[in-house]
Amino acid sequence: MEIKKIEDWGLGLKTPLWIAGPCSAESPEQIEQITNELQGSDVGMFRAGIWKPRTRPNAFEGVGEDALQWLQIPKKKLGIPVTVEVANAKHTEAALKAGIDVLWLGARTTVNPFSVQEICEALKGTDIPVMVKNPMNPDLQLWIGAIERLMKVGIDRIAGIHRGCSSNVPSRFRNNPEWSMPILLKREFPTLSVISDPSHICGNREMIGEVSQAALNFGLDGLMIETHHDPDNAWSDAKQQITPKTLNSLLGTLQVRHSIDEAPELKSELDKQRQTIDVLDQQLIEVLSQRFKAIENIGQYKLEHNLSVFQRDRWDDVINSRLQQAKASGVSEAFMRQLLMDIHDESIKLQEGSMHTSKA
Ligand code: PEP
Ligand code: MN
Repeated sequence: MEIKKIEDWGLGLKTPLWIAGPCSAESPEQIEQITNELQGSDVGMFRAGIWKPRTRPNAFEGVGEDALQWLQIPKKKLGIPVTVEVANAKHTEAALKAGIDVLWLGARTTVNPFSVQEICEALKGTDIPVMVKNPMNPDLQLWIGAIERLMKVGIDRIAGIHRGCSSNVPSRFRNNPEWSMPILLKREFPTLSVISDPSHICGNREMIGEVSQAALNFGLDGLMIETHHDPDNAWSDAKQQITPKTLNSLLGTLQVRHSIDEAPELKSELDKQRQTIDVLDQQLIEVLSQRFKAIENIGQYKLEHNLSVFQRDRWDDVINSRLQQAKASGVSEAFMRQLLMDIHDESIKLQEGSMHTSKA
């Protein structure tokens, strides 16, 4: 079975797809107000959370099933499909019964194969499109697994939603973008559309423009942006929501990038430039191979003279001089430090390994 791109879902969607709507549905009046303010925009799908997964109890947990009917307002007034998050079989059955057009699985659901499977059982015999957010942690396999489970029950209208991953390392993001995840997911499922969710990546309004543009630069197929008529007073995720007006001006400034299939006249020049990369990569591998051989020779020498593998002073010198060289060449210090650590780990392994081999 091949996954259908969002343009082929039969819902009149085009790429890039802009999905807007509040983090949570709060009242019919709130949904109506946001709908009215979205009139005339390029938004192609309306979102709202109805059952809200909250980290701590006593936070607002969504208004529940009642709100399913409220979504008829944007569906009718804007003439676009509507989507809600489902996290168990009961939600799924209620959303199907209410005629919701598209479902989405949240990050806390994708992380749990039991929940995903329960939802899939409830979806058997239906063909509703489902969007799957990446799991909370940077585990690509869980994301792939949730998509495979949906495919196994016959769902072929599937999209990914990239919302970043939580981490304990201090960061300017609420959820680290982990850009390699959506890219590797697309490699696994070449016809899968992946939409980015800058709202949950950023956790604030200020960075949404920058992350939205980055998503388009990476060739993702659209954006899901939390939109509220009165963001400061939203009942959940107040800091990261923007008004429909701000959304429209943001959409007006974004630069949409094209895939090379859409611009075949650029292919030969691009191929030429890519050959340079191919040659440089070959050279890089050759240099690394030579470096590791030299390391093994040094290991042999250390063994013959009963010296320990790790020599602190030498390592400090290596790090400092290489970081200086990198800086002078315009290579980032953080990248160089990581690369040196990786090369050093491998070198120590090789030297230590060769000591065992020699003993045997
Ligand atoms: C949401 O979209 O409001 C939401 C709860 O998102 P996530 O599952 O990405 O945390
Ligand atoms: Mn939210």
